[in-house]
Amino acid sequence: MPRLVMKFGGTSVANIDRIKNVARHVKREVDAGYHVAVVVSAMSGKTNELVAWCKEAAPFYDHAEYDAVVASGEQVTSGLLAIVLNSMGLKARSWQGWQVPIITDEAHSVARIADIPSANLDASFAAGEVAVISGFQGVTRDTGRIATLGRGGSDTSAVAIAAAIHAERCDIYTDVDGVYTTDPRVVPKAKRLDKVGFEEMLEMASLGSKVLQVRSVELSMIHGVRTYVRSSFDDPDNPQLGTLICDEEEIVEKQVVTGIAFSKDEAQVSIRAVADKPGVAAAIFGPLAEANINVDMIVQNVSSDGATTDITFTCPGADLERARRVLMDAKHTVGFKALETASDVVKLSCIGVGMRSHAGVAAKAFQALADKGINIRAITTSEIKFSVLIDAAYTELAARTLHSLYGLDKAA
Ligand code: ADP
Ligand code: ASP
Ligand code: MG
Repeated sequence: MPRLVMKFGGTSVANIDRIKNVARHVKREVDAGYHVAVVVSAMSGKTNELVAWCKEAAPFYDHAEYDAVVASGEQVTSGLLAIVLNSMGLKARSWQGWQVPIITDEAHSVARIADIPSANLDASFAAGEVAVISGFQGVTRDTGRIATLGRGGSDTSAVAIAAAIHAERCDIYTDVDGVYTTDPRVVPKAKRLDKVGFEEMLEMASLGSKVLQVRSVELSMIHGVRTYVRSSFDDPDNPQLGTLICDEEEIVEKQVVTGIAFSKDEAQVSIRAVADKPGVAAAIFGPLAEANINVDMIVQNVSSDGATTDITFTCPGADLERARRVLMDAKHTVGFKALETASDVVKLSCIGVGMRSHAGVAAKAFQALADKGINIRAITTSEIKFSVLIDAAYTELAARTLHSLYGLDKAA
């Protein structure tokens, strides 16, 4: 019998009624003749609550214990869904990450899946069971402790399991009916895409579209898992297929810009009056790298007096305080006058493989943003995307402006 992975996110399992609705989706596929592995997230808001409790318990906590706490949300939903499926006459049982087992590396709170032996799931299917698996969690290979895969990690659990059991498809059910040209909650004119290429989806996910965790897209690409994003709010008896994540070659209609993503999790650091001499960039970015702070956009002004210059960069908002401390510690060696920071900024990115063959795509955006009076604090470009750093207050206006500029309001 063919196998199928169905993943349901937090909103889809937010209460018992919704879990019952999920069970109807599962029953449909079982009735259609699939062996089904269901991957569930915690009820929406639950993981945030658990994370907040860890922080409240102690500001600097052990990440292995954090994992023990935050993995619990998924344990509840997998058990509840199995109970509901049983009550509908289906054979089902819950599986925690350590029981499958989903084996990970030792990087607590941001663990990566190393291996998923399929023997237990094979046996479960052979026994005619639906396997209801807790997403987001696994067990570390060396120490046998509970590990979690980073926020949004249930997507990755689902795709990795689909690869391990050679599933025909991995369906990621969420609260929107597919991948859109941009976040439909921010830009009402966003259009659903029937298909999106791996590369573009990777960029969108890593630049802030949280509809899929980045690592899940990587795994889907590497293992050739046919992955769809679709809605759990569709009628379980008459669902739509959603968006397929696939090879670029499968997409007939190509736009220059396919999608717009934004990330609020950014902070800006500006270092004023740095000596303009060789070795300064190394003196600044070396210690930041050693402290594991991911620096993204970097802007260095041309010195006007030949002696000093300004350097601006961005880093994750969560690392801002650490970045400030690292730089203040290095102040003596670097030699600068002042440090300024801002966290009310957003990185807005336009993504499209068509940019490879079209010039001036970004320039059009700079003009359009200027026409709206939106100031650009920093810019980065690469082969298939460009990003601008702007004031957070302008996020919606900028996203809507660029969405219509690139013809996405009327995309197919
Ligand atoms: P789940 O709990 O099911 O994993 P998430 O909240 O993680 O769901 O992801 C779904 C959300 O992603 C949507 O509600 C939507 O607001 C947001 N999103 C951001 N960018 C996009 C996009 N390009 N297409 C669709 N949804 C997007
Ligand atoms: N519950 C986890 C989170 O909120 C994992 C997930 O939902 O994918 O991040
Ligand atoms: Mg998610």
